[in-house]
Amino acid sequence: MANTQLLIKIIRRMGEKIIENKDFLTELDRAIGDSDHGINMSKGFQTVNNKLEEVEDKDWGTILKTVAMTLLSNVGGASGPLYGTAFLRASTVVHGKTEICQQDVIHLFEKAIEGIKTRGKSDKGDKTILDALIPASNAIKEAYQQGEDSKTAFKRAEKAALEGVEYTKTIIAKKGRASYLGERSIGHQDPGATSTYIMIQSIREILEE
Ligand code: ADP
Ligand code: MG
Ligand code: MG
Repeated sequence: MANTQLLIKIIRRMGEKIIENKDFLTELDRAIGDSDHGINMSKGFQTVNNKLEEVEDKDWGTILKTVAMTLLSNVGGASGPLYGTAFLRASTVVHGKTEICQQDVIHLFEKAIEGIKTRGKSDKGDKTILDALIPASNAIKEAYQQGEDSKTAFKRAEKAALEGVEYTKTIIAKKGRASYLGERSIGHQDPGATSTYIMIQSIREILEE
């Protein structure tokens, strides 16, 4: 169903869009953090982009692990270790595979979420990455269970992630720097949830091409 060429395209698109949104993500972090989310993520994906060439003909597991290790060692702040862990956990699901199926996709997302929950001691409703990622993952699973294809699944995931981003405006941050603001974090959308939304959107775009 999905080969590694598709994965490479997806990761490259994620990088392009994160870099395009560097200032936007940094602005969001200015309001409730330390103004570096766009900088951190762009730097990480720039390095990922350079590393991809070396693993272009490898399996899903190797490619995802390379992304993970690169983010872990090149992205500062909370987001680097969290996204790094997400990609690393996801990589274990597809170890050695050159083609993956819908069930693998579901597992990838579940493992990524598990990784962030464990590493970040966070959950849905804390105003983080998870507020976009969990609804997106649920939407994918539901769509597949209804017999839909990946295009439809990721269209729904993108919508769910965006709703998750909107939801982060209404809640108090309980994790990360934004939590220092307490009630003053209300009204602002979470930078990490927003970068997750952009990454899900990248997948949808590639699937539609
Ligand atoms: P830092 O806050 O260290 O400067 P970034 O600005 O790159 O790191 O990333 C901030 C984002 O990281 C937040 O918007 C939030 O989504 C996410 N985040 C922070 N702490 C956690 C956590 N414990 N669990 C999940 N996500 C978190
Ligand atoms: Mg920051
Ligand atoms: Mg920082």
